[in-house]
Amino acid sequence: MKAWDKIRFALRRTRGLRFRLTLSYVVFFALLLIMIGVLFRPALQAILYGQSEDTLAEEWGAVKGYLRMEAYGPDWFYDPYDPEEGFIVTRLQRVFLLADANGTPISSSEIYRGLGIDSPAEIRQVLANPDPENKGLILYKRDPHGVLYMIRAGRLYDRQKKVYYLAIGRSLKEESQILDKFTVRYFIMLPILIAVSSLFGWFMAGRAIIPVNSLAQTAQRISGSSLDLRIPVRGADDELDHLVKTFNLMMDRLKASFDQIRQFSTDVSHELRTPLTVIRGQLEVALFTAQTAEQYREAMVSALEDVERLAQIVRALLLLSQSETGQLVLQKSEFDLATLSRDLVDEFQIPGEEKGVTITADVQEPCPVIADRVQTERLITNLLSNAIKYTPRGGHASLNLRCEAGDVILTVADTGVGIPSEHLPHIFDRFYKVPSADPEKGLGLGLSFVAWIARAHGGGIDVETEPGRGTRFIVRLPISALAPHADRPVMAASERLH
Ligand code: ADP
Repeated sequence: MKAWDKIRFALRRTRGLRFRLTLSYVVFFALLLIMIGVLFRPALQAILYGQSEDTLAEEWGAVKGYLRMEAYGPDWFYDPYDPEEGFIVTRLQRVFLLADANGTPISSSEIYRGLGIDSPAEIRQVLANPDPENKGLILYKRDPHGVLYMIRAGRLYDRQKKVYYLAIGRSLKEESQILDKFTVRYFIMLPILIAVSSLFGWFMAGRAIIPVNSLAQTAQRISGSSLDLRIPVRGADDELDHLVKTFNLMMDRLKASFDQIRQFSTDVSHELRTPLTVIRGQLEVALFTAQTAEQYREAMVSALEDVERLAQIVRALLLLSQSETGQLVLQKSEFDLATLSRDLVDEFQIPGEEKGVTITADVQEPCPVIADRVQTERLITNLLSNAIKYTPRGGHASLNLRCEAGDVILTVADTGVGIPSEHLPHIFDRFYKVPSADPEKGLGLGLSFVAWIARAHGGGIDVETEPGRGTRFIVRLPISALAPHADRPVMAASERLH
């Protein structure tokens, strides 16, 4: 069983990146080496045989100087007392054949006879070869022991210009030995080279995938509570560094979303707890202390008010989550923003009167836009209700709409409490409420919706305020940007919630 486990472990390794990298490197390297070996042998042979041919060409020239055809037959003319000449002639005579034009041998060396005297047909064929410079042809013959000889065969003339057949040769034994030695040594070296290159490749591939392994290890260690883990960048500025950087960036984003989700759940539970506690208190009062039908009714009515508040929170949360996950898609259509603004201001007259706040509209007409009507309505409603909510009795709120060349500028101003400067950076954050403002009145979500809607339409929102004197929200919507993004989500999942 143990052996089987070992085999299984080894087999699993063969699926690894390191093994496959090494394997492809080694296979490529081995093929390259084999190809070099296979191609190099004929090249080496051509060089060696070329040298032999040159030597033979020199000897061919020499033999024509020393050998003359006299009336009594062939004779070698040289100075017998010159050892060098004697040596040359002896060497020329070692592999040698002389025959007449009909192919009848006149004189030959023993080695040549061992190679086999050329047949009359072969001789006639060589003599028939047009060879104006009389350099002879190169032929190859093997002796009975298998040793290869290079032969140069051609014409020899006597004084009467009669043609003879002359062939001289030299053994290629040394050259063959060099070639064989090279081949044997090369192919003995080959497995050693491949083994060394495999080790090298294994080592290099191991080094190359270290970041991949640490990436995997870090990824394994990551859980909801360890999102701070990052892999150090090696500084090589290569693909793996790029991978590590991308991974780290992904971790940053993951952490940001995790933090957001955590914050979100804390906020939500906090928001839901308060009305629930109130409802519970009211129901307990009804159950334990109410005696008359009127008392029951009162408790129920106020419980119902808080249930309504809960439902409002849940609706807002649903919208919030839809916007965050990108499920809220703008449904764009063409409508007149001026009419919508005027209608909404009209609708707010009654709540304004109840609160003792006058509301006026200064609207440039017409103002045709292509936008999400429901969301635009939500945007204006939120701003107007805030203006009334945060303006004391006797105050004034106003909506101003300017529809210019590229932009729609919608301003909602009031003469209310204003916003202290330290809270200004946060008012567009979800669930953010200015503590001194009436804590029960809002969820702290209205302005974050307003900001999303403006941004989803390609615009933005600004605020000018003076505590105690009033606030002015300026929404800018670029008309040109309204049309093309018909299906753009109100907010991408990765965007911050403010
Ligand atoms: P809420 O639903 O609680 O009003 P918002 O997101 O609409 O939440 O507003 C966030 C905070 O900004 C509020 O708590 C309030 O203090 C402040 N705020 C918003 N509008 C105005 C305004 N017109 N005047 C003064 N303060 C405002």
